[in-house]
Amino acid sequence: MPLSIVRNAELKSLNTFGVAASAASLITLEHESQLAELRAALADGPAPFVLGAGSNVLFTAEVPGTVLRVRLRGVRIVSDDAHGVVVEAAAGEDWDALVRWSLEQHCYGLENLALIPGTAGAAPIQNIGAYGVELSDVFESLDAIDLDSGVTATMSVADCAFGYRDSVFKRTGAGRWLVLRVRLRLARRAQLRLEHGDIGLALSAAGIASPTPADVAAAVRRVRRAKLPDPAQLGNAGSFFKNPIVSTAQAQRLLAGNPGVPNYPAVLDGAAARKLSAAWLIESCGWKGARDGDAGVDTRHALVLVNHGQATGAQLLGLAARIRDSVEERFGVRLEAEAVLLPRPPDWER
Ligand SMILES: Cc1cc2nc3c(=O)[nH]c(=O)nc-3n(C[C@H](O)[C@H](O)[C@H](O)COP(=O)(O)OP(=O)(O)OC[C@H]3O[C@@H](n4cnc5c(N)ncnc54)[C@H](O)[C@@H]3O)c2cc1C
Repeated sequence: MPLSIVRNAELKSLNTFGVAASAASLITLEHESQLAELRAALADGPAPFVLGAGSNVLFTAEVPGTVLRVRLRGVRIVSDDAHGVVVEAAAGEDWDALVRWSLEQHCYGLENLALIPGTAGAAPIQNIGAYGVELSDVFESLDAIDLDSGVTATMSVADCAFGYRDSVFKRTGAGRWLVLRVRLRLARRAQLRLEHGDIGLALSAAGIASPTPADVAAAVRRVRRAKLPDPAQLGNAGSFFKNPIVSTAQAQRLLAGNPGVPNYPAVLDGAAARKLSAAWLIESCGWKGARDGDAGVDTRHALVLVNHGQATGAQLLGLAARIRDSVEERFGVRLEAEAVLLPRPPDWER
């Protein structure tokens, strides 16, 4: 099957914000047999932007280069022994479908990551996480092709250098590595993580005292549906900002004047630090439910920017910048975007 290459391609249906934008060209990779053709097509141009399901991206303006959409498919069990079950998913597999499939196979460990939108190949990029579990907790390895050299590498947890919503891929520049497949080490015997209050409450509300992994996944789905807008109904990319991590000294100064700021243990540059709730900081600045035309802040969750219909990427970015600046002015803490901004404006950090 030849590679699909579309010039002046519309991206509105390819991002969960639902913002209109176009790319100079859109290449869709359906099968690994197309990799040689892909490299030839990219040979003379700049690195492409690799796109999964577009659930963590804000197209801030027209994309001058190539968007490479990954639709590689396939899931299988690679090994199953006393050390666990290694499951391999091609990069284009839907993440939540993989969570469901793994539970059907009696492979446990992904329950808390249910209903996170996106593809398996994107999961390592920002080390997806929710309800006390991160991808890195179950990650075994991945295969990725260096689009510059054409060399395929297998990368371990250490190679990926995972951090909070971070990995080596976010630091080495977009478009160099194309993740082809991801392997996860899951367990035959569940070790449920219920310490996140919302999960416990959802299980109690359902009258479940001894939950199965499927019960936990169902509880996570209920909690998420109650808290987060469904991109099919209201455009969004989940949390727009990361929770900021500050030094212990800065946290103490901030807490002295604002004792209510929720904060948690974290590590910053190898030292003990505190992670602050970005939602609390944003809400305290009065942004929850705010609206500027069709660009808005969700009424239930202050971390989520939403597109009420026809918002452009520039309008959403403008709103995000005002939120960031007001939080910095009031609390002295600069928020960073969790969503990937494309093109990235100069005044936004990586
Ligand atoms: C309603 C909602 C809730 C969300 N909740 C959470 C949450 O709880 N936790 C969380 O961590 N995230 C959450 N997210 C963010 C999002 O679901 C994740 O970041 C997800 O992994 C993005 O997957 P994607 O396929 O849509 O990636 P995209 O948005 O298409 O791309 C994201 C990044 O990954 C890169 N990328 C994608 N595929 C590949 C590949 N094959 N090879 C190399 N690079 C690639 C892109 O270049 C880009 O840098 C949420 C989003 C939404 C809309």
